[in-house]
Amino acid sequence: MTKTDIIENYGRYILSTYARTPVIFVKGKGMTLVDITGKKYLDFFPGWGVSNVGHCHPKVVGAVRDQISKLIHIPNNFYHPNQVKLAQEIIRCSFPGKVFFCNSGAEGCEAAIKFARAYGRGRRHEIITMKNSFHGRTLGALAATGQAKYQEGFQPLPQGFTTIPFNDIGALKAVIDEKTVAIMLELIQGEGGINIAGKDYMKEIRAICDQKDILLILDEVQTGMGRTGEMFAFKHYGVAPDLMILAKALGGGLPIGALVVKDKIAGTFKPGMHASTFGGSPLICKAALGAFKAIFADQMLANAKIMGPYILERLNQLKEKFDCMVEVRGLGLMIGIQLNMEGKAVFEECLQNGLIINCTQGNVLRIMPALNVTKKQADRALHILEKSIAKVTQHSGNEVHS
Ligand SMILES: *Cc1c(COP(=O)(O)O)cnc(C)c1O
Repeated sequence: MTKTDIIENYGRYILSTYARTPVIFVKGKGMTLVDITGKKYLDFFPGWGVSNVGHCHPKVVGAVRDQISKLIHIPNNFYHPNQVKLAQEIIRCSFPGKVFFCNSGAEGCEAAIKFARAYGRGRRHEIITMKNSFHGRTLGALAATGQAKYQEGFQPLPQGFTTIPFNDIGALKAVIDEKTVAIMLELIQGEGGINIAGKDYMKEIRAICDQKDILLILDEVQTGMGRTGEMFAFKHYGVAPDLMILAKALGGGLPIGALVVKDKIAGTFKPGMHASTFGGSPLICKAALGAFKAIFADQMLANAKIMGPYILERLNQLKEKFDCMVEVRGLGLMIGIQLNMEGKAVFEECLQNGLIINCTQGNVLRIMPALNVTKKQADRALHILEKSIAKVTQHSGNEVHS
């Protein structure tokens, strides 16, 4: 099929739930993607946070290759070593607890919501979530998501969610009542525009949860697997969750989700209360084990801790140059650039120049390169970004000084 055929047939055969960019990628390796015309791109937003270890990392490819001819799937009424090895690895890197495997972030959130309701035993069911949060598109996760634009047209949504402003401890205290069973949030809102939870805020939330027996659910679907320079973002806060949701980068590019529950309350779920046919299959778990190996073998956490601040510093220098850049913020390699204008044109100009970034909330550029990004690659990306912002702002008449 030619490029035109492919795009036309998408129109004919694929439900149009996405605004797609007319680029067809056919190959990927590390930080690089290659499109159908042979053009190469530097990928600074690999898979919306899926490919933290880069495209087709050898540790993931090797793991999949090794497993795929042995056994791809067995149902969850039997045992397999890969599933328990992966659970052990997640627990070793997070907190003492137990894991439920599913296939996506939304499913992980659904599992967390059901768990919280089971924990409330019919007496408490209310879950507090945050404005500008993102938890997925299934109805429960959508009800938890604090953005009306995603909910419009899909009412009635499941009840039992109260959404409050993020980073506002007063707003939280004001809505907690005898029905509250959980507080669910992202430590850094990704889709919401790289909004970072305050350290004191999180400490206060933890204290409230302990005092009132409320579950703290952290959605680490986007912040997890080394994205912020720690394996999980909660490590920056000195605050551990009761429940943690993982997905995106966990499978090294393959689909997997997980709910991690701390030991003390893990018995809330009993046989028959929740399930997933594909959850934690031998193949996917092997791929995820490969992703962990990749992170350790290439010392990606240490690299993210060096390269994140480096990119932030360089972006702050750029900010001095461009009026359109209002704020640069981030943690590790999860970085946002707040603009005072729409970011779409910058995204498009970057793409034209062979750099993939993202634009969220209309005016926040999001940069999340693979965790083994080199200084050379970062410099190249920053150069393209600078050139692209200059071109776009000249066109829009937005002054560029010096
Ligand atoms: C992407 C995302 C989800 C949803 O994950 P899916 O795999 O698309 O269902 C949930 N929470 C956060 C924080 C995310 O970034």
